[in-house]
Amino acid sequence: MSAGLGPIDQIAAELARLPSIGRKTAQRLAYHIVSMPVERVQALSDALIEGRRAVRFCDRCGNYTTGELCTICANDERDRSQLCVVRDPRDVAAMERVHDYRGLYHVLHGVLSPMDGVGPADIRIRELLQRLQDDTVREVIIATNPDIEGEATAAYLARLIKPMNVRVTRIAHGVPVGSDLEYADEVTLSKAMEGRREL
Ligand SMILES: [Zn+2]
Repeated sequence: MSAGLGPIDQIAAELARLPSIGRKTAQRLAYHIVSMPVERVQALSDALIEGRRAVRFCDRCGNYTTGELCTICANDERDRSQLCVVRDPRDVAAMERVHDYRGLYHVLHGVLSPMDGVGPADIRIRELLQRLQDDTVREVIIATNPDIEGEATAAYLARLIKPMNVRVTRIAHGVPVGSDLEYADEVTLSKAMEGRREL
């Protein structure tokens, strides 16, 4: 524990590291936590540690899983000829809420962003190209966000993939420009998928 920081401040400081938790919220939660029965705090702490230890990336698509393959990759009923490329595992969850996509996914774990020093070797592009080697995939649907980095990544991938004789499509701009796929409602996402265009 750092010097001068009381236990409540210490809890608040850790909570404040989480996204969308500001200083005030962190304080409020910290005061709440020290008022909880110790068993509840223990259960919370165990869920965090055990959950974090159990979750890893799927060997094939990069989605979160607890086994070698995620439930989507392991499902024989999914259409192996379609691959939907997304930025991160939260986008897989968003697409799955739509229910009408039956293909597989590939999670890039980022998008190209020269400004932030993220180049092709920093995201899972090599793994994507490897998955296209055995001719099973007939269409790659690029579903990165419709912002500058997402578009640049889509264009870059299309250039690499098209010579491999695989159809490359981009989801339509039903997803509001500059916004996150994750927050698009199901109807919007479904329409975006339906209206996808060739790249
Ligand atoms: Zn997977």
